[in-house]
Amino acid sequence: MPLATHAFRCPSCGGINRVTPGRSDPKCGRCHQPLATSGQPVSLSDAELSHLVQNSPVPVLVDFYADWCGPCRSLSPILAELGARHKGELIVVKVDTERHQRTAGQLGVSGIPAVFLYKGGRVVDQAAGLRPLPAWEQMISAHL
Ligand SMILES: [Zn+2]
Repeated sequence: MPLATHAFRCPSCGGINRVTPGRSDPKCGRCHQPLATSGQPVSLSDAELSHLVQNSPVPVLVDFYADWCGPCRSLSPILAELGARHKGELIVVKVDTERHQRTAGQLGVSGIPAVFLYKGGRVVDQAAGLRPLPAWEQMISAHL
């Protein structure tokens, strides 16, 4: 059986790090800054998102949102909880569609919140709107 690997995106340089589960205080292999391993979603640009989904060894859940969108604000803590529960085996990020519109445009996003699940560099599932935590758990369960 292969050794389990977790993956985290370095908040300092964007490097994607494979980390052995249970290792304490991991540092980024690229910039040597401490790796954030809480699983809390961070906000990315189109270019940062593209790099992440092309290189992540674990699935990436992307929340396309805007600050003025009420359902987006309600969804945010739900997806933060999802990211914390699955830290290492899933990377949850968000994209502010007011500032970064390229990826949302390419994906045909017409309303927010819109959530896309990437695995191996491509979209494997998607959903729109405010949904409870169990719905997101179900969405990712087939892909972890
Ligand atoms: Zn780094």
